[in-house]
Amino acid sequence: MKVETAMTESTQKINLLGFSPKKLEEFFVSIGEKPFRSTQVLKWIHQFGASSFDEMTNISKALRQKLSEVSEIREPEVLVQNISKDGTRKWVIQLDGGSAVEAVLIPENGRATLCISSQIGCSLDCSFCSTGKQGFNRNLSAAEVIGQVRVAIRSFGPFDPNGDRRVTNVVLMGMGEPLMNFDNVVDAIHLMMDDNAYGLSKRRVTLSTAGVVPQIDKLSQVTDVSLAISLHAPTDELRDQLVPINKRYPIAELVDACNRYMANLKDKRVITVEYTLIAGVNDHPSQAKQLVKLLKRLPCKLNLIPFNPFPNSDYRRPSEDAIQAFKMVMVKAGVITTVRRTRGDDVDAACGQLVGQVMDRTRRSEKYIPLKDASGVQQEPPR
Ligand code: SAH
Repeated sequence: MKVETAMTESTQKINLLGFSPKKLEEFFVSIGEKPFRSTQVLKWIHQFGASSFDEMTNISKALRQKLSEVSEIREPEVLVQNISKDGTRKWVIQLDGGSAVEAVLIPENGRATLCISSQIGCSLDCSFCSTGKQGFNRNLSAAEVIGQVRVAIRSFGPFDPNGDRRVTNVVLMGMGEPLMNFDNVVDAIHLMMDDNAYGLSKRRVTLSTAGVVPQIDKLSQVTDVSLAISLHAPTDELRDQLVPINKRYPIAELVDACNRYMANLKDKRVITVEYTLIAGVNDHPSQAKQLVKLLKRLPCKLNLIPFNPFPNSDYRRPSEDAIQAFKMVMVKAGVITTVRRTRGDDVDAACGQLVGQVMDRTRRSEKYIPLKDASGVQQEPPR
């Protein structure tokens, strides 16, 4: 399948898929309709998975006609679906313009966590992340961000608002820096957390950032989503090398911004601190001790991510002993620490392995074609 032929046709119509509840209401008022109609349509789109206005049986024919003349519900197209032996599902999602991003669903202990992308490539360039190595194409639209949630739910069959939840948690930890795509990401978050759309609690939606400090403050004014920060180093000297945005917003400023964010929340929550463990770079026990000191300044839990290798990277994953030794320093100091275990290895779904297809790098697509699941059976993209 050629990328160009799989592209969704672009029309001039307004795509309602990414409209936040507030924007959808404004849209209905702007076309002379009562605001409550927007709630009905919101439910159709996000709770029943409607893709056309014809399905919306509690809305008059005249209004359905009017809506279909000016607007549409257009979901990004699934180019490839991979199902791993361990149940992990990965989608390569085709976007207007020929690029593709990836989303991953990880089932675990009765939960199913969906990891979604926010940009094509990434506007940051962290030294250990393969997404960054793909360069940057553009921000995803709100429809493309929320579209990944719809795609994941749809992969289990028709939408059933009263059935089991197929996606219980969403993390913005896929490709891209969500806070560099602020408005679209916030619209999508509002949809995830709205009771008339996906109704996920604020504890079950997590935005992960490399530390765009002013945007963290801005975020707290518009939502109370859970926050994760990609720290990866206990000192500015090292973090400058791993996470270049640290040169602009050093650790002390990031920690202060996180504390301001937490102070604004109405409930008691902690920040998730992500720390990718890289052999000989940031995994020494003395660095663990420095990290203990640093984390005392922040209500948080620590998530250690053993480095996932990718082609042309000189970094290595630490030995299991080194990972455990680092973890023990943290645990003994009273820091709640988990080690993120790699899932979906056989479909390249691990952290830092999401590469999608950033335009001008078309050779990547060869890896995904033909469409295969873990058993090697050829599949059609789900519809
Ligand atoms: N830009 C955001 C969202 C990406 S989240 C952020 O930086 O938080 C992806 C997480 O996986 C981040 O914590 C990132 O640092 C981590 N990661 C990236 N590449 C990795 C790799 N090769 N191995 C392990 N973790 C990696």
